[in-house]
Amino acid sequence: MKDSLVVYNTVNRNKEKFEPLNSPFVGMYVCGPTVYSDVHLGNCRTFVSFDLIFRYLLHLGYKVRYVRNITDAGHLEGDRDEGDDKFSKKARLEQVEPMEIVQKYTIGFHEVLTLFNTLPPSIEPTATGHISEQIEMIKEIIDNGFAYVVNGTVYFDVEKYSKENNYTLLTNRNLEDMLNNTRELGGQDEKRGRLDFALWIQAKPEHIMRWPSPWGVGFPGWHIECSAMSNKYLGAQFDIHGGGLDLAATHHTNEIAQSQACNHTNPAKYWMHTNMLTVNGVRMSKSAGNGFLPHELFTGKHPLLKKGYTPMSIRFFMLQAHYRSTLDFSNDALDAAEKGFKRLINAMVLLKDLNPSDRENDINIQELEDRCYAAMNDDFNSPVLIAELFEGVRIINGAYDEKVFLNQKQINQLKSLMEQFVYDVLGLKDDVLKTDEDFEKVMDIVVELRNEAKANKDYVSSDKIRDSLQKIGIQLKDNKHQTLWLKN
Ligand SMILES: [Zn+2]
Repeated sequence: MKDSLVVYNTVNRNKEKFEPLNSPFVGMYVCGPTVYSDVHLGNCRTFVSFDLIFRYLLHLGYKVRYVRNITDAGHLEGDRDEGDDKFSKKARLEQVEPMEIVQKYTIGFHEVLTLFNTLPPSIEPTATGHISEQIEMIKEIIDNGFAYVVNGTVYFDVEKYSKENNYTLLTNRNLEDMLNNTRELGGQDEKRGRLDFALWIQAKPEHIMRWPSPWGVGFPGWHIECSAMSNKYLGAQFDIHGGGLDLAATHHTNEIAQSQACNHTNPAKYWMHTNMLTVNGVRMSKSAGNGFLPHELFTGKHPLLKKGYTPMSIRFFMLQAHYRSTLDFSNDALDAAEKGFKRLINAMVLLKDLNPSDRENDINIQELEDRCYAAMNDDFNSPVLIAELFEGVRIINGAYDEKVFLNQKQINQLKSLMEQFVYDVLGLKDDVLKTDEDFEKVMDIVVELRNEAKANKDYVSSDKIRDSLQKIGIQLKDNKHQTLWLKN
């Protein structure tokens, strides 16, 4: 199965056979959040998508080192070194230390990702913890002739770099067009070229986050941290570099330039990007006023939302779209996903108690499994995988209702297939039926009382129990052998 995985590589705009540099080891770097505010949903989608990729690679037996950084310094408001430092600005607003901002939003970020059931990365390095590595890399870039120093700030010389290298590898944009779309250098500008970007920035007197360097006291540019940290933990070249599509044009483009200038190689063999979110067809953004935060989706407290959804319903909703497609939020789509997720999870409950039959049948579980692998091997196509798993759901429901007949071997196969793909690969878990142990014991008693009433032909009582449960969203599901309860 390993041999047939193909992934879409942004560099070549093509699906390519996945061949790690040092199989079975896989190095994967994903740009993490800038922890100066609540994590937004677009970021969550990116991290859920790479969680799916991480999980599937592990499932295939690869030994994956997954590095996802925390940006806790150096990120200015503009991607091209203009504006205020995001942490200092927020710290001033909230009247706290910048590192208090970092701490608060790092904890919040981890809490949200835990709710989405993402596996922690193998290493989660911070920019502030790797200042010396960044300085070393900048020195090397200067020594190699691709950067220059002006008044304590170090700039990457894009125009010089472009003479020997393709600066627009990821976007395939024309360098002339890019130059025309970038503002002219002003008289005060220190940069030589309009596309040049800062590797190290001299700190103004009021700047709190500052470190000594060979060029004076300052702080690193945003792009160099990922190059320095990926180099440290994954080497000069590794397998997968990922992030949101919005990072491709500037951040990732500059990462490639830095690594080429320092290590003479593109840092990653495969560049993978997740697409944007839209709300009712309009791109989600703060300025459009249509951006909701994860906790607003959980509680439903947002003017555009009818109700709240569990984190797993939202994870399921995200995985129903391919990571390279835009994902459109609407109340109808969320409702449909919630319903679908419950159907899937309820089938997983029934699957635990299927009774084998000796009757002949022509159900081929192996074929279903092959189709599940084929979906995931096709650039991690989770929506197709989910459609295949619903074929499994139909078989399970039919078997429970004794309209479909499975032998013990088929039940075992189906169980293993469904559990592996639903829990391990898609990373879903039951947060709909979530109950505690005491509740389950009480439900066992209720079900027993109802079945006793039924056996005694006391249909008034048995119907009353069934209907009352129905009203609070609990459905009793009988077959010849037993009664299970499910949440609607
Ligand atoms: Zn990055």
